[in-house]
Amino acid sequence: MLTCKEQVARSSDYLDGQLTFRERLLVRHHLMFCPNCRRFIRQMRLMQATLKILPDEPVGDVDALAQQLAAERLKDQKGGE
Ligand SMILES: [Zn+2]
Repeated sequence: MLTCKEQVARSSDYLDGQLTFRERLLVRHHLMFCPNCRRFIRQMRLMQATLKILPDEPVGDVDALAQQLAAERLKDQKGGE
């Protein structure tokens, strides 16, 4: 099983879909047993989504934007991992 440090090191590649099948399995296995890393991945995913849809003008309240994204994710329960 991956350590949390190894897990964190792979997080961004995991979210980008850059990991090999084997590494994805390792990451998913770790996430299954590690709530801390689950939370971390969720926050990273939100952050990536935020960066993707970020408007050209600077956003004053990033927290509000993140919350809005989280709310939309809840609405959109397709289980897209
Ligand atoms: Zn962990």
